Amino acid sequence: MTEIRDTVILGSGCAGLTAAIYAARAGLQPLVLEGHEPGGQLSMTTLVENFPGWPEGIQGPELIENMKKQAARFGATFQTAHLNAAELGARPIRLTTSAGEMLTRTLIVASGASARWLGLPSEQALIGHGVSSCATCDGFFFRGREIAVVGGGDSAMEEALFLTRFASKVTLLHRREGFRASKIMLERAIAHPKIELRPNTIVEEVLGGDEREVKGLRLKDVKTGELCELAVSGLFLGIGHEPNAKMFAGQLDLDAEGYIKTTGNVLTTLNGVVVPGVFACGDVQDRRYRQAITAAGSGCMAALEAEKFLEAQGH
Ligand code: NAP
Repeated sequence: MTEIRDTVILGSGCAGLTAAIYAARAGLQPLVLEGHEPGGQLSMTTLVENFPGWPEGIQGPELIENMKKQAARFGATFQTAHLNAAELGARPIRLTTSAGEMLTRTLIVASGASARWLGLPSEQALIGHGVSSCATCDGFFFRGREIAVVGGGDSAMEEALFLTRFASKVTLLHRREGFRASKIMLERAIAHPKIELRPNTIVEEVLGGDEREVKGLRLKDVKTGELCELAVSGLFLGIGHEPNAKMFAGQLDLDAEGYIKTTGNVLTTLNGVVVPGVFACGDVQDRRYRQAITAAGSGCMAALEAEKFLEAQGH
């Protein structure tokens, strides 16, 4: 018979791993399911300068690795598995994953958010051939080349700044005049001699499909309607993220952009009524703050709520 677990945590980013530390210390022996982006967004970032406790900053992957070790030390276990289906109304909750069926009394959803793409066919055709959403993963391949980054938020600034280590020039393309990025990040990008900011510009087409490598971009000035070509070898997207919650549609309330709606910080609902035993934390339910520290905080809350729920059920 399939073992009934106390807690399964979906996602191994900052929220999921913090939930794992707390759940493990509460003796719940959590199983953490690591999906196709283990470690979440922090594992794809560089220096994290705003996580309290690291006065000189810490590399994102190192911070994640530390959290994982900390959770494992208290008994959390990890499995690489993709969630195919969930019956959240069943008791116990039934999960169908790429690693088999699982039964659990509580589920902590910490599935985060994944990089957004422009959605152009020419962009999709060249993903992995010069089009990327991860500067830290792919920047290395663009040593001495000219590249472009799309976006006007902190992710785009961070990517552009990071890519200056390799690229000879980084053109930052943003679709409007005003930037969403924090002042400090924007100022760093503006001050960098290798970065050129091009506001009011959208990408119409990624060129080079025939050669299977990015050769340039067809750009449009949204104010004048003027078209031009920019010769670059790479295109990096820094245009935000989509919450990984689609698989819960119909079983949990989602907002208009697909984020899980929560009440009491981390409790989930269906038609406004709390879904027992299912908690959500981190970026999958946070459209406002989306910081490593807020994800960690909500992961802690989710684990504490799971513990209280199990206690009330006599487990
Ligand atoms: P974001 O703040 O939502 O910014 C996304 C940017 O992409 C916006 O400028 C948006 O333009 C643009 N965009 C969205 N869809 C687009 C499309 N289809 N075509 C062209 N442009 C598009 O996302 P983010 O930069 O990933 O940041 C998310 C959160 O993480 C923020 O709270 C941020 O502060 C935080 N973060 C912090 C750091 C750091 O402190 N080091 C680093 C990364 C992220 P509009 O402005 O016109 O909407």
